[in-house]
Amino acid sequence: MRTVAVVGASLAGLSAARSLRKQGYDGRLVVIGDELHRPYDRPPLSKEFLAGTVGEADLALEMDDEDLQAEWLLGVRATGLDRTDRAVRLADGREVRADGVVIATGAAARTLPGSEGLAGVHVVRTLDDARALRDELARGGRLVVIGGGFIGAEVASTAYALGLGVTVVEAAATPLAGPLGETMGGVVSALHADHGVRLLCGVGVKGLSGETRVDAVLLEDGRSIPADIVVVGVGARPCVEWLEGSGVELDNGVKCGADGRTSLAGVVAVGDCANWYDPRTGAHRRVEHWTGARERPDAAIATLLAGGAVEPGVPRPPYFWSDQYGVKIQFVGHAAGADSVTIEEGSADDRDVLAVYRRAGEPVAALGMNQPRLFTRWRKQLARPTS
Ligand SMILES: Cc1cc2nc3c(=O)[nH]c(=O)nc-3n(C[C@H](O)[C@H](O)[C@H](O)COP(=O)(O)OP(=O)(O)OC[C@H]3O[C@@H](n4cnc5c(N)ncnc54)[C@H](O)[C@@H]3O)c2cc1C
Repeated sequence: MRTVAVVGASLAGLSAARSLRKQGYDGRLVVIGDELHRPYDRPPLSKEFLAGTVGEADLALEMDDEDLQAEWLLGVRATGLDRTDRAVRLADGREVRADGVVIATGAAARTLPGSEGLAGVHVVRTLDDARALRDELARGGRLVVIGGGFIGAEVASTAYALGLGVTVVEAAATPLAGPLGETMGGVVSALHADHGVRLLCGVGVKGLSGETRVDAVLLEDGRSIPADIVVVGVGARPCVEWLEGSGVELDNGVKCGADGRTSLAGVVAVGDCANWYDPRTGAHRRVEHWTGARERPDAAIATLLAGGAVEPGVPRPPYFWSDQYGVKIQFVGHAAGADSVTIEEGSADDRDVLAVYRRAGEPVAALGMNQPRLFTRWRKQLARPTS
C-alpha cells in the first residue's frame, strides 16, 4: 500500500493514523478534515471548556512532539469517493488517489428546522459551537435545553453551575431511557431536579419564537417557555452523504463488519460514522462514544493493511461516561434487551449506585454513578468473551 487517505481529522481519524504508523505502514498518509482545527477533544466542550475551566490548548489530541509524517489537508470537505481508483474528491477540486481509505467523518449535530439564523440558538458539536455558546452563557440569563440526552444534560449541568436558570425539555416520558432503560434513565435524569433545574418530559417542541433573537420555546401543549439562550441537543446524524453513489453500503452510517471493513475492498470506517457489526448481539450498532472512536481503529487498520485477510475479533462492549452535577456516570454494554436491572451497590436515591442489567440471568450491561472502582470490575467482566 503506497497511499492511505484518512477522511475526518478528529479522534477516530487521528487514532487510525496512529494505528497505521504503529502497525508499520510507512507510505504516504493523507489526513483530510473539513474543520480548520487540528484534532481536538470533544467531551470537554459540554463540560470543562464550556464552564471556562479548560482552555483551547488543553483540548489538543496530538502530543507536542508527535509527528505522524502525515499530509494534513484541513478546512476542505471530501465530497465523493470514486470506487474505481479509490480517489477521494475534495470540495476545492483536488482529489487524493489512495490504495486504502479510512472513513472517519463522525457525526454532526441535528438542528431544529426553522431555527436557522435565529440568534441565541446553539448546538454543541464543534469547538466553534462551544466557543459561541460559552460566550453567551457568560452573560447569564434563562437557558432552555431542548433534548434531555447526555449532551443536553451536560450543558444543563454546566449552565446551572454558572448560575443560569435552566429548563430542559424532553419529548420522551423518561430522558435517557434509550441508552439506560426506563428505571436508570429516571434515576440519572433526576439529577436535574436535585439541583433545581426544571425538567419537562413527555412534551414536544412546536417551534421557537423571536424576530432576530430567540425569546421563547413553544411547546406542543401550548406552553411558552421564556428563553434568552436555547441549546438544541436532539442527537447527531452520521456524516456520510459524501459517500452516496460510491458503492460503500450506507445504513445508519457506514455499514461495517466487526472489524470496520466496508462493502468496498480497501475501505474501512471508524468512529461515530461507522455502524459496526457486534458479534455479542448479532446486530449492527453505531456507537457515538469516545472510547470506541479511540480503540476500534486498531482493528480496522489491521484489516486494511492485511487486505481483509484477518479474522475479526470481538470488540469490547461499548463504554461511555458523562459528568453531570458533579456525578461521574459510566455505562458499559447494551441495555436494550435486558430483562432485569438490579442495584448491586449503593442507592439510587443517593445517586451513588452500581446497577447491573441482565438478560436471562446473564449480565449484559452495567451503570455506575460515582462508583468508579466497582464499575471498572464490571467493565472487565463484561469484556470477557461469551461462551
Ligand atoms: C459536546 C460533546 C461531548 C461529548 N462527551 C462525551 C463523553 O462524555 N463521553 C463519551 O464517551 N463521548 C462523548 N462524546 C462523543 C465523542 O466525542 C465522539 O464519540 C467522538 O468525537 C467521535 O470521534 P469521531 O472522530 O468518530 O467523530 P467526530 O469527532 O465527529 O469527527 C469527525 C470529523 O470529520 C469531519 N468531517 C465530517 N464530514 C467530513 C467530510 N465530508 N470531509 C472532511 N471532513 C469531514 C468533521 O468535521 C469532524 O471534524 C461527546 C461529544 C460531544 C460533541
